[in-house]
Amino acid sequence: MWINQWMRLAAERITDNREYLIGLDRTIGDADHGENLDRGFRAVVDYVETANETDVAELFRGIGYTLIAHVGGASGPLFGSAYTRMGEVATKELTPTIIAAMLDRAVGGIQKRGHVVAGEKTMFDVWLSVADAVNHAVDEGADIDQLRDVISESAEVAAQATVDMVATKGRAAYLGERTIGHMDPGAASSQLILQAFSECVN
Ligand code: ADP
Ligand code: MG
Repeated sequence: MWINQWMRLAAERITDNREYLIGLDRTIGDADHGENLDRGFRAVVDYVETANETDVAELFRGIGYTLIAHVGGASGPLFGSAYTRMGEVATKELTPTIIAAMLDRAVGGIQKRGHVVAGEKTMFDVWLSVADAVNHAVDEGADIDQLRDVISESAEVAAQATVDMVATKGRAAYLGERTIGHMDPGAASSQLILQAFSECVN
């Protein structure tokens, strides 16, 4: 099923980029983001492979709890709420409308948990841009195949756009203007997670 595929591929991409994410977080944070997420997504893979869950919402809630329990840091509860909220609308068979609704829920979850708005140089910027791009594409009649490209491209552009921003949330906010010129680690990991999603939806 796409959910297990997504979790396995996301975990693989995070593991492959562990050092890259650690490096980004070393520059504007405390160098643990790659380690936190690698640990968390490995735990998620263990969870989905053993979970005997037929209810999609329950499965996503379990993924969310696993992330909160194993990622730690600021990002654990943020990703946790994103997954729990996506599960409220996710289904075994996806449609463009459901994909758009899932991304909207993720955005709502991160926003509420992080008290964050657009432009604060966080993971939120990536989830919001992808949700906006997908909603726009769905309004224009895009099918799932087209959405895959929309997700992948908008995630890359949005993560890149955090480079020029000043961090005003999380640990990076202490560095203020000194964060300019560096990509936000949570934006980079969100790009990887959403690109993995784009490859697994069908
Ligand atoms: P910590 O900052 O506790 O070490 P991580 O390194 O795992 O946690 O995650 C840092 C990432 O979390 C940041 O790069 C940013 O994207 C995200 N983040 C931190 N605080 C917030 C917030 N309030 N709202 C949204 N995202 C946030
Ligand atoms: Mg950190």
